[in-house]
Formats: sequence, C-alpha cells, structure tokens
Amino acid sequence: MNLVLMGLPGAGKGTQAEKIVEKYNIPHISTGDMFRAAIKDGTELGLQAKSYMDKGELVPDEVTIGIVRERLGKNDTDKGFLLDGFPRTVAQAEALEQILKELNKEIDYVINIHVDQEILMERLTGRRICKNCGATYHLVFNPPKEEGICDKCGGNLYQRADDNAETVGNRLEVNLKQTKPLLDFYKSKGYLKNIDGQQEINKVFEDICNLLGGLGE
Ligand SMILES: [Zn+2]
Repeated sequence: MNLVLMGLPGAGKGTQAEKIVEKYNIPHISTGDMFRAAIKDGTELGLQAKSYMDKGELVPDEVTIGIVRERLGKNDTDKGFLLDGFPRTVAQAEALEQILKELNKEIDYVINIHVDQEILMERLTGRRICKNCGATYHLVFNPPKEEGICDKCGGNLYQRADDNAETVGNRLEVNLKQTKPLLDFYKSKGYLKNIDGQQEINKVFEDICNLLGGLGE
C-alpha cells in the first residue's frame, strides 16, 4: 500500500503515522528523516541539502525530489510506504507521480486527517513540552499529573513560544493556503480520502484501517 499522509499541524498526523506503519509494516518516510539519512550517508544529494540547510536556506525542489527518488527506490518500499511531509506543493506532487511511474508504483490513497480550525487552535495552544526529555503534554487532553511537571522524568514543562494563539493562528492560515491546491490536485486524481480527525485517536485509526482494509496485503 502506497500512501501519502496529510493533515494540518495538530491534526494528529504523527500519532496516526506511527500506528499505520506498525500495523501494516511499511516504512514511514518523513521528509526530516529522509534528509537526515541522506546527510548521514553522505550521498551527493544529502551533501547538497546540507549546504542549503547550513545556510538556513530552503532546500530547492530538485534536491528534495532527488532524495525522495533515492528513498523510494530502496527495496524496503516493495510492500508499500507512508509518505509524510512530502509532497507540499502541486509541483512536488507532479514530480512524485513521475518518480512512482519510473518505479512502476502508484499512490493508493492520500489520507487527509481533517480537523476544524478552531479545534486545531485549542489543541495547539494547549501543548506543553518537557524541557528535559521532550515529552509532550496537553492541558486539556493529556495533562501531567502535577501541573508544570513531567510525569516521566520530573522535568519542568514549558509552552513553546510559537504555540501562542497569534503565532498558531498565522501558522494554520499559511498551512491551509499551501495545502488547499494540493488537496484539490489529489481530489481531482481520485486519491484523496478525508478522515475525520476530531474523533478519539483509536476511532480515527479505525476509520483509516477500514479504508486500508480494502487494499489487502
Ligand atoms: Zn520529561
């Protein structure tokens, strides 16, 4: 099963990605991991990507697409893959189609975890993170046992500066604007499947499994 996973920040994409790759035993291919691996392996494209990142610049599309091509060409993707964080634009989506065509593969579904904007705001501004171990909590959905203290390691919890309402609102707007054309593109291709991300985590996953059940092994 060849999948692309989409969802705005706070939609629960990371949680569902973990569950999907565990159940279906396919590699989770996130942009960040892909970059890190290419840099660690010292591939030509990895080094190019690194030179841009070191300068604080955006990695150009041709480099990113090259790294995706290398990654999808590895044989652990024979049974499928879950792409996460790529593509971000219609141009990248078109490049992905080309790559998959070369590899004799095709996308089965683009899973979009949908959550209303007001609910995303509530989710994103309630996040607290442990300074020490990075564990994440939420004031409403997953509060620590003791206010401001990490259950796991006793470290202090903090709110990231970019989790305040104004920054979160702006970030969501930008993301929505970027994502819209991509969702339209995949809808027109017939790949897009919207999943209601406002349900309980396990129910969201159940809906995804019901969708994927039709694909078989
Ligand atoms: Zn901690």
